[in-house]
Amino acid sequence: MAGICSICGGEMVDKSVDVVDTINGKLVVIRGVSAEVCMRCGERLYSQGELKKMEKLREKIQDNLVKPITVEEVAVFAV
Ligand SMILES: [Zn+2]
Repeated sequence: MAGICSICGGEMVDKSVDVVDTINGKLVVIRGVSAEVCMRCGERLYSQGELKKMEKLREKIQDNLVKPITVEEVAVFAV
């Protein structure tokens, strides 16, 4: 269910997104997370279900219980 962005009033659309996170000091990408994304400002909203799934996956990654589907080198920059 898509709605209106609470930040800018733009249109929110359902999308599958990548979530970048740092776990155990390492950059990880969680792929295929369902989110509502604002077309105007890029604000993302995750459902409670998706947040729970991400939380569970984070714990598994922390405990080394899951293997990544792919490992890519990521260059990270700060502004
Ligand atoms: Zn917005």
